[in-house]
Amino acid sequence: MSKSEICEHLIALGADFHRRGWALGTSGNFSVVIERAPLRLAITASSVDKSCMTSDHILEVDGRGRMLNGASGKPSAETLLHIAVVQATGASAVLHTHSVWSTILSDYHRGQGGFHIQGYEMLKGLEGVSTHEHEEWLPILENSQDIEALAGEAEALLKEQSNLHGFLIRRHGLYTWGQSLAEAKRHVEILEFLLESVGRRRMMEPIA
Ligand SMILES: [Zn+2]
Repeated sequence: MSKSEICEHLIALGADFHRRGWALGTSGNFSVVIERAPLRLAITASSVDKSCMTSDHILEVDGRGRMLNGASGKPSAETLLHIAVVQATGASAVLHTHSVWSTILSDYHRGQGGFHIQGYEMLKGLEGVSTHEHEEWLPILENSQDIEALAGEAEALLKEQSNLHGFLIRRHGLYTWGQSLAEAKRHVEILEFLLESVGRRRMMEPIA
C-alpha cells in the first residue's frame, strides 16, 4: 500500500472503531509497515480523536520510533509497543483498542496472567484457526507508563509464545496484529466480540 492508501484506510478504521466504542476519546493507536528493512512504520499521532483523523495525523517513524521526513507532530506514546509487535511477529499491521471488555477482563484475570477462550464459533475468524474447539490464550501484561519496558516485555512474550493472536494490558486495552491491515482489523473484530461474549457470560454466573 502507498502512504496515501494507508492514510485513507487508517482514517476510515479510526472512525469505525470510535463508533463501535473501541477507541473513544483519543484512545487507541494503529500502525502499518511501509517498509521492513530498514523498518518504516506509518502510525497514528499522539492525542488524536479517532473519529475525525486526517492524513496529517498519520506519521512516519523508523525502527526506533523516531520521526522521519522532518515532519512535525508527535507519534503515539505507544509507538515502541507497535515496533516490538512488528519485530517479534513479522506483522504488517498492529491495532490497539481500549474497549470496556478488554479493560474489565484484563483486570478480572490479572492473577492468572491471562485467560483461555474456547468453544466459540467466532474463534475461526482468527488466522490459522479452523475449529471452535481451538483454545486461544490471551495473556495480560501489567500496565505501565514506561513504554520502553512494556515493549521489552511484549517482545519477550511474543517470541516465547509464537501462536498468540493478541494480548491485553491490564485495565488498558487490547493489542492485535495481522499480515495485512485487513487481517489485523478482522482480529480486532473477532477478539472484541469474544471478549464481550466471555464478559457477558461471566456476569450470568453466580458469584463464588
Ligand atoms: Zn493504549
